[in-house]
Amino acid sequence: MAAPIHTSVKPRGGVTAIANRWPLLGQRRALVVYLCGIVVLDLVAIGFFAVSSDLRWPDLITFAALMACGAVCIEATRRLGMPAGVSRDLLSAWWLPAALLLPPVYALLAPIPLQILLQKRVRETVVYRRVFSSAAIGLAGCAASVLFHTVVGDLSALTAGAGRPILVAVGCAVLFTVVNTALIAVAAHTSAPDSRWREVLWNRESLLLDVVELCLGVIVAITCGLNLALLVLALPPVVLLQRSLLHAQLQAAARTDPKTGLLNAAAWQREADTEIVRARRTGETLALLIVDIDHFKRVNDTYGHLIGDQVLVGVAATIRSQLRDYDVVGRFGGEEFVVLLPRADVTEARRVAERLRSRIGRMAVPADDNMITVTISVGVAVMSMHGDDLIELLAAADLALYRAKELGRDRICLPATVVPPARRPGSEAAPS
Ligand code: GH3
Ligand code: MG
Ligand code: MG
Repeated sequence: MAAPIHTSVKPRGGVTAIANRWPLLGQRRALVVYLCGIVVLDLVAIGFFAVSSDLRWPDLITFAALMACGAVCIEATRRLGMPAGVSRDLLSAWWLPAALLLPPVYALLAPIPLQILLQKRVRETVVYRRVFSSAAIGLAGCAASVLFHTVVGDLSALTAGAGRPILVAVGCAVLFTVVNTALIAVAAHTSAPDSRWREVLWNRESLLLDVVELCLGVIVAITCGLNLALLVLALPPVVLLQRSLLHAQLQAAARTDPKTGLLNAAAWQREADTEIVRARRTGETLALLIVDIDHFKRVNDTYGHLIGDQVLVGVAATIRSQLRDYDVVGRFGGEEFVVLLPRADVTEARRVAERLRSRIGRMAVPADDNMITVTISVGVAVMSMHGDDLIELLAAADLALYRAKELGRDRICLPATVVPPARRPGSEAAPS
C-alpha cells in the first residue's frame, strides 16, 4: 500500500510565509474567527462602559494600586522563569477586586497592562495569545463586575462584614472563573477539535487553583475596600503563593514536551519503567507502541516547520484522545511517539494501534488552501512475548516499526521474530 500523504506540492511562500510572520493567520479559520470575535466583543464592551462610567479619582487610585500590586507580583516571580505553553498565575487576586470594587470598565482594562508586562518582562509569546487572554479575562471580569454592582448596590456593604454581599462576591468570583475558563476552553477545543472537552475545561489541579484564586480575590477585595493601604499586608502572602505555584509548574514542565504537551522522552521512560516493574510484579500484561508519522519531512518541506508543528500537535492530541487515562504517552523525539498500554494483551494492543492509525489518517490540518492529512506506521511489542524490560520492548517495537515502513507504511506491525516461549515460562508465542 502506498503511503497516502495528501500534501500539495505548492512551493512554500505566499500565505504560508505570511503565516510564519503572523502566526494567527496560520491557525484554523474557525479559531481565527473565534479569537477575533472575542477581541472585538472586548473592545465594544470597553467603549460602551467607558462612555457610561464617571471618571472618579478614588477609583483611579484604587485601580493604580491594584495594578501596582500585580506588577510587583510579576516582577517578584520573574526570575523563576515561566513554563512553556499554558501556565497559571494568581493575578486574579488583583483582577477580581478591580471587578468587585470598581465600575466594569476597570475590569475590562485591568488585564491589559499586566499582560503587556508579562510579555515584555517574563516571556515573549505570540502576541495574539496575549491579546486574547486580555480579552477573555476582561470579559469575565466585566460579567462579574456587572453582576456584583447590580445585586449589591452599596459597595460599602462588602466591608461591613454582612453575609449577603460577601456571598454575592463569592458568586461573582465563581462567574469570573466560569466565563474565563469557558472562553479559553472553546479556543483550545477549536484549535484541537480531537481533544476531549473534559481535558480542555478542567482537571483536579486547575479546580484547586480556581478555588485558591477565588478565595484570594474575595479576601483582597474586602481588605482593599476596608483601606487601600492594607494592600501592603496582602501583597507578601500573594507573592509567596505565586512563587510556589510557579515552582510547581516549572517542575511539571521539566517532564513535559513543550510542543505537544505529552511527556518528554526522559519522563516517559521513567514512568514506563515504573509500569513495567509493576506489571512484572503483578503478572499483568502490558504492551508498547512506537508511532511514527509517515513522510513527515515532506510536510515540512512543502508547508514549512510551523505547519509541521501543528500537524505534530494534532497527532499528539489525537493519540491522547484515543487512550485511557492510565496509558503512558510520550513524544520520543521528532515525529515519533511512544505509548505504554498497561494491562493490554496482544489483541488489545493491535486494536488500539489500529484505532490510532485510522483516527490519525482521518485527521486534517488546514494549511493555505489545502487540508493536510498524514498517515502513521506503528510498531507493537508485548511484554513477555517480545521483551521483558523497557529496552527489549523498545528494541522489538522499533524493529516492528521498521518492518511497517518497509512494507509500505500506513500500517501496524509486530516484530517478526518472537522470543521462544521456552525462555519465558508461561508466555505465549505471538502472531506476527
Ligand atoms: P518516514 O516515513 O520514513 O518516517 O519518513 P519521515 O520523513 O517521516 O522521516 P525522516 O526521519 O526522514 O524525517 C523526519 C522529519 O521530522 C525531519 C525533521 O525535520 C522533522 N521534525 C523533527 N522534529 C520536528 C519538529 O519538532 N517540528 C517539525 N516541524 N518537524 C520536525
Ligand atoms: Mg517519520
Ligand atoms: Mg522517525
